[in-house]
Amino acid sequence: NYSLKQLQAIDARHHLHPFTDHKELRDAGSRMIVRADGPYVYDSEGNQLLDGMAGLWCVAVGYGRKELAEVAYDQMLELPYYNSFFKCSTPTPVLLAQKLAELAPKSVNQVFFGSSGSESNDTALRLVRHFWALEGKPEKNIVISRRDAYHGSTVAGVSLGGMKHMHGQLGGAIPNIVHVMPPYAFELAEPGESDEAFGLRAAKAVEDAIIEAGPENVAAFIGEPVMGAGGVKIPPKIYWTEIQRICRKHDVLLMLDEVITGYGRTGEWFAAQTYGIEPDTITTAKALTSGYLPLSALLVGDRIAATLVDKGGEFYHGYTYSGHPVACAVGLKNLEIIEREGLVGRVRDDTGPYFEQQLKERISGHPLVGETRAIGLMGAIEIVRDKATRERFKPAGSAAVVIRDHAIANGLMLRATGDTMILSPPLIWTRETIDLACDRILKALDLALVDLQGR
Ligand code: PMP
Repeated sequence: NYSLKQLQAIDARHHLHPFTDHKELRDAGSRMIVRADGPYVYDSEGNQLLDGMAGLWCVAVGYGRKELAEVAYDQMLELPYYNSFFKCSTPTPVLLAQKLAELAPKSVNQVFFGSSGSESNDTALRLVRHFWALEGKPEKNIVISRRDAYHGSTVAGVSLGGMKHMHGQLGGAIPNIVHVMPPYAFELAEPGESDEAFGLRAAKAVEDAIIEAGPENVAAFIGEPVMGAGGVKIPPKIYWTEIQRICRKHDVLLMLDEVITGYGRTGEWFAAQTYGIEPDTITTAKALTSGYLPLSALLVGDRIAATLVDKGGEFYHGYTYSGHPVACAVGLKNLEIIEREGLVGRVRDDTGPYFEQQLKERISGHPLVGETRAIGLMGAIEIVRDKATRERFKPAGSAAVVIRDHAIANGLMLRATGDTMILSPPLIWTRETIDLACDRILKALDLALVDLQGR
């Protein structure tokens, strides 16, 4: 048995963390999360934290689900692993693919499995370029994306993504990826510009990019229906309707990255359904297993699938863990729980609207808050120094971190990204959990207001 201090010392010495300043980690030590139950996680010091981030956007059904552990245990004893290469398969990925085809938009019926969202976007990028090559148009390979997008941490993921600081460490992105403005009205809408006008303008930026590159050179547009890690940027509904129209007009494939929005977060199984669109690919991961095991699923639309099957020959692509039998068994059981407990409908009809309303009524009036917004159980709080002018604190992001630390100290795990606080709780949250979270957010904001006086 190790003490916290011992674990922290070993951690700092041997463990390289994702997205962590390791010098700070060495100086301050990590917070050791040691167990979890329902909507709560507990650290090594016995502190109970309401998990406002569902782990990392993934634990849809909450923690401590025996059914998920049992189905994994049983599957591990029966068949822990076999590959799905070279015309082999195991039963659970087959059944999970069938289930996903049933839940996905009508024109999406085939599934390619991986272990992570990043892998899945890699597959998607390869697949759309391969598609056009099979169609005899190999030059049609440019992909349009957005600034501030997050599509993963592999070279392809960062290249597709639009995070400047990540590109800065890449030493050269994959070629033929073009970035346009994100649909981020809070910072980018003109004074007096309506939501609809802004949505149309942001979509037009995509069309302009397609025309500039030449539609004959553009393979696809990729986007998160609601930008997650970039700060829960929720586009006006017309944005996606318009993007779909533009893509069809120019024969450009539409790729959605639903790694965060998939499996109920926006109040439908997929945000494609929330926005009423039929994409050619949908990348998913995270909530597919509620994070209990690593698993991603790239859902592939009929148009691409037909070409791949009929003209494709062998697609030289696959991961050792594509269709992992245990992960797929957990995925199946997790979807069964979400369905049985009616969590998607509850987010759509009850907790989602309540969440948005409570953020607006209780949080948005605070002096540090420029705006709150939410869709389903995905929310954002914009932190400002001046409510009227929306001026931010300097340096960028410094105030949000203060608020986050107060929130955590007061029992709410949430995240700060730039000047935006983000929440993405488990789908099992009730109105009472939302009330409790808002109490703790308010307390954190009040404490931060004192700290930030004069800054
Ligand atoms: N796409 C989006 C929209 C994501 O939010 C993430 C992860 N936060 C990824 C892709 C990458 O997924 P993973 O970390 O599983 O590789």
